[in-house]
Amino acid sequence: MHIALVSEHASPLAALGGVDAGGQNIHVAELAAELVRCGHRVTVYTRRDAPDLPDRVTARPGFAVVHVPAGPADHVPKDDLLPYMGGFGAWLAERWAAASERPDVVHAHFWMSGLAALTAARRTDLPVTLTYHALGSVKRRHHGTRDTSPPDRVGYERMLGNRVDRVVAQCRDEVEELTRMGVARRQIAVVPSGVDSGLFTPEGQAVARTCPRVLTAGRLVPRKGFQDVIRAMRWVPDAECVIVGGPPGRPVAEDPFGRRLVEVARLAGVADRIRMVGAVPRAELPRWYRSADLMVTAPWYEPFGLTPLEAMAAGVPVVASAVGGLLDTVVDGITGELVPPRDPAHLGRTLRRLLADRERRLGMSAAATDRARSRYGWPRAAEQLTAVYRSVAGAMSGAVA
Ligand code: UDP
Repeated sequence: MHIALVSEHASPLAALGGVDAGGQNIHVAELAAELVRCGHRVTVYTRRDAPDLPDRVTARPGFAVVHVPAGPADHVPKDDLLPYMGGFGAWLAERWAAASERPDVVHAHFWMSGLAALTAARRTDLPVTLTYHALGSVKRRHHGTRDTSPPDRVGYERMLGNRVDRVVAQCRDEVEELTRMGVARRQIAVVPSGVDSGLFTPEGQAVARTCPRVLTAGRLVPRKGFQDVIRAMRWVPDAECVIVGGPPGRPVAEDPFGRRLVEVARLAGVADRIRMVGAVPRAELPRWYRSADLMVTAPWYEPFGLTPLEAMAAGVPVVASAVGGLLDTVVDGITGELVPPRDPAHLGRTLRRLLADRERRLGMSAAATDRARSRYGWPRAAEQLTAVYRSVAGAMSGAVA
């Protein structure tokens, strides 16, 4: 099949270059690569966000990345991109009108890409699938008036859910949220993200350490719960906590939230046991995960969560907030433990108990790797997605015939 992936703000090239990449960049890059390995032709459409980008690049795994002119050729925060999605969609429609560029199926990533894809698909009669990656209703519940999303986001997301040919949800919690929003269950297929189990392995080098270690990783934003992990360390007196993440290529001290975390550690009296190592290139991450006795992830909410899955693939048990995608990836008591979000005392006591029980951790480590490899491999995800693509493309050609 010729598959078009639309990812308006998250370019897979950022993930391949190892700079400033969030989960969506990595997901799109790894999905595109796997689909190519399965023999598909893949083109990723992302917004031109710098003037010197080529129109089209072939990324090393063999997929094309097309930079779509929509809005200023400069960085624009994703919450401000909505006015450009009409133009993005019109550009795609024109492109896909040429037989040589016309895909068999479109897979949009994030709701704004869904809008652009639907605009284009209406004019070209192409089937569209959509992965939200994050839902506005969840964000609004947690951020309230500080939510910077466009005010109509939830309405657009509901509309998209019922108009695209299939929604690809990443976990059971998302399915529940979507059905509560009014998206029909028959519209939804569940295909979790994959993890690169060739990169994240238990075997290999580990960063040196001198005492028991818990590790947490991700973008330094309040909703990831680093402040709770730091406070939890009061209950874990003999261990250190490594925090991986920060502004790419710059020290953590240059990040306002990073500075706040340093203050949280000082106030909690644990500053001497918190190591904020900043952003780590993806290729270096396995060495960091392997160095830890436990990985901890304590978000308020988490649409999917790649970092715990990466740690599991690297053989590290995960203590996670019982929210979102983590309810599926972490099996409580088997591959790690689930704890309530925003409860540092509970988290701290759980970490202390597990750190004291080496046998239990060894069992969890083996189960974690096994689960990551057997349930979250990219070949499996690509196979399931291909079935979804074929089903919507088949339905469309049947309808036309
Ligand atoms: N990551 C990285 N270097 C860092 C911190 C994170 O490469 O210093 C990667 C990490 O490996 C993961 C992604 O960034 O693949 C974050 O994805 P996740 O789903 O955990 O969170 P998101 O950023 O999408 O909310």
